[in-house]
Amino acid sequence: MNITFISAPAAGKGLISSMLNEKYGFPHISIGDLLRSVDDVKVKNQVKNGEFVDNRIIAKLLKERLSMPDCDNGFILDGFPRNMTQLSIYEDICEHINNKKNIIIVLDIPREVGEMRVTGRRVCPNCGYVFNEYFDKPKVSGICDHCSHELIQRSDDNIETYERRYDTYLKETKPVIDYFETRGNVYHVDGSKSSDETFRDIEKIIGGYND
Ligand code: AMP
Repeated sequence: MNITFISAPAAGKGLISSMLNEKYGFPHISIGDLLRSVDDVKVKNQVKNGEFVDNRIIAKLLKERLSMPDCDNGFILDGFPRNMTQLSIYEDICEHINNKKNIIIVLDIPREVGEMRVTGRRVCPNCGYVFNEYFDKPKVSGICDHCSHELIQRSDDNIETYERRYDTYLKETKPVIDYFETRGNVYHVDGSKSSDETFRDIEKIIGGYND
């Protein structure tokens, strides 16, 4: 099964993807994380400011990553496609990747919840696990529960960047969701619940497939 998460910023797709990866073993492919590993000043600034990075750079990174053998049995794609041009890249890639079922999960959250999540989000740079100082606290503040590494706050996790990203989501990403709706493989999940509850809702969806 290939699971694609499309959501407003800070809807929790990174955390839920990590949880799915832990339970089901599908590799978690985060476009944001792939871009953060690119050694290019322009890309780093775009990520920092919450601006979309060039589609050609993303298409190349994504094709390389999805062609790795660990994606043969399925993957979790987090953060793509986010506009109509990327939608056609996505469809092209999906045709050539594996024969697994593609499902789209949209985590829905109100804008105000996203704002709190952004100011509270802490990420482990070592194992990728995501916490929130308000909603999903680590056992020890500032320290990863899983690998004891110090947690960091992403440079794009500030309120100005969030507002800009949310507006871009409404303008550019919502049409992608609307398109997928017409294909009948979209599941909307309430992303404002606790991560465990949201995870259980997603498990029910996944349980309906045997791919
Ligand atoms: P994320 O980790 O998904 O929150 O993404 C962090 C940042 O990476 C975004 O604000 C963009 O700057 C960039 N980014 C992530 N996914 C995409 C995408 N599909 N298209 C363009 N830029 C992206």
